[in-house]
Amino acid sequence: MSLVQDSPFLPLCPSGCRNHVVRRGLYTRSSDKKTIQRFLCRSCKKSFSSATFEPCFRQKRRDINPHLFRLLTGGFSQRRSALDLQINRKTVVRKFIFLGLWAAKLSSALNQNHPPAETIEFDDLETSEHTKCKPLSVTLAVEFHSRRILGFRVAQMPAKGLLSHLAKKKYGPRPDERTKKRKELFQEIKSLVAPTALIKSDENPHYAPDVSKHFQGCHHQRFKGKRGCVTGQGELKKIGFDPLFSLNHTCAMMRANINRLFRRTWCTTKKKERLALHIALYALRHNQDLILKKPKMKTAKTI
Ligand SMILES: [Zn+2]
Repeated sequence: MSLVQDSPFLPLCPSGCRNHVVRRGLYTRSSDKKTIQRFLCRSCKKSFSSATFEPCFRQKRRDINPHLFRLLTGGFSQRRSALDLQINRKTVVRKFIFLGLWAAKLSSALNQNHPPAETIEFDDLETSEHTKCKPLSVTLAVEFHSRRILGFRVAQMPAKGLLSHLAKKKYGPRPDERTKKRKELFQEIKSLVAPTALIKSDENPHYAPDVSKHFQGCHHQRFKGKRGCVTGQGELKKIGFDPLFSLNHTCAMMRANINRLFRRTWCTTKKKERLALHIALYALRHNQDLILKKPKMKTAKTI
């Protein structure tokens, strides 16, 4: 039974009419055999049901949403998910977009329930859309120790090194959105960070002005970047203590669980918006299932 049905108050008409709503029978939804209450608005004569207000309204295969969520956040590609769930690839795409938008909204709401983070770490993870000539940068912020993902942004950036000349010749000039997106991210996570928090990052010269602007009163600690332990695995550091372990470990988990971020794979991102949706899906799974449920109250001062 839905919340609306159990409520002593009748729901308001979706068309915006006030009062004059009456119950008008029940029906059994074919997709999950659930009994749904139908209502009639006496003002506009339109009928609606308690399902009208649900996020999965008008979906025919709401039963596969949880399965698809687990597959897409567990290293499966969209095509393999379609094959395993025996659904059409286009259904997967539609559901992927729906789930991604839902996850982004839910993650930000759930993050508000946590106490403000005392120590955070942030850095950029690099990937590409379609070809390495069109690289993307994912700015990620995580809470120290618990590894909870606070937020992220996907930004376009121009190709670097040997590919820069070829990329410009083939695809023309490419805008660098990293600064803009980093500012957007800082603005978004401002409310999730304590006013006197410790913010850790690498020695990128662009970070300091943005941090001091958005996190006044916070201490910004910068560390020198270290080499990766295996070629191509920049997130897992070679030896010794990694001062940005929470962030690097989260990036490594993202690379292990988001199919399009795997190293040396034929899966790739075609649209940066879809990469953002996929990371939003993973961030929800990560924060809900894959990290410590009750983080110890350990701060940087104790290490
Ligand atoms: Zn009405």
